[in-house]
Amino acid sequence: RDLTGLDLDDILGTINAEVRQRFGEGRVADYIPSLADVPRDRFGIALALLDGSVHEAGNARERFSIQSISKVYTLTLALEAIGDELWKRVDREPSGDPFNSLIQLEHEKGIPRNPFMNAGALVTADVVLSGFDAPERTLLEFLRKRSGNPEVGTDEVVARSERESGYRNVALANFIRSFGNLHNDVQDVLDFYYLQCSLRMDCVDLARSVQYLANAGRCPVSGERVTSAEGTTRINSVMMTAGTYDAAGDFAFYVGLPAKSGVGGGIVAVVPHVMGLCVWSPGLDEKGNSLLGRYALHRFTRMTGLAVF
Ligand code: GLN
Repeated sequence: RDLTGLDLDDILGTINAEVRQRFGEGRVADYIPSLADVPRDRFGIALALLDGSVHEAGNARERFSIQSISKVYTLTLALEAIGDELWKRVDREPSGDPFNSLIQLEHEKGIPRNPFMNAGALVTADVVLSGFDAPERTLLEFLRKRSGNPEVGTDEVVARSERESGYRNVALANFIRSFGNLHNDVQDVLDFYYLQCSLRMDCVDLARSVQYLANAGRCPVSGERVTSAEGTTRINSVMMTAGTYDAAGDFAFYVGLPAKSGVGGGIVAVVPHVMGLCVWSPGLDEKGNSLLGRYALHRFTRMTGLAVF
């Protein structure tokens, strides 16, 4: 994976210009007002290379709701807390169903298909709640250290609206609890999940925050070991097969990088041994992934030859 001869700023400039031609495509998430109010004509992209350099274009410094991107970080914390025991409580298979689907849970006796569907993220949140004395602070500190930005925080309005409109998450959590696969109070698990969804970060913060996944588990921002090299391989593989839900096949096909999306329009991706990256554009496709974000990642891997395949 050699970057010599690639003018990354030029490539990002081209992608930024192409995406701006297509503003208006996709639908902004509208299940809560704070997301519905975000303008659709936004696009940012940031690359964080392991040598510490950052390349960016567009609205890469505008903060947005990271939503399900947070599932990468809680998965990392859950693995830190209980290691491979986690896989007894959540599987690592792609679902082929939407991110908030309940359908496979009954057959699989409350064991969610993967940690990136909402069901799996609720179990992961439960593990983090049991595993750390101050789970909320642990998650915030984790992201501040990974990004190098001490101002990373949560949005209380988003967290509150998630709680007010989270009927399906409530159903998922109670259903999983009925199988005994949540150990904490159901409302506490939901509140932690809503809090993680409400984190606000920008593309540069997020690109830096996934660098440990490109760097065999070591965070180049803080110098800390975040997870083992094996942990990194596992998290990246689940991102590849399930990070974009029932579009993971299409993402492998068009993008070819481990990636994790959120309904705020952000997508983080990893080029193993090279960089962490993040794109953001609020218009979503029918699977709930950023439509222009995916297009940008597709163009990026084709222009650089950096897809893992
Ligand atoms: N808050 C959203 C939910 O729980 C997060 C989903 C997502 O980003 N895909 O439905």
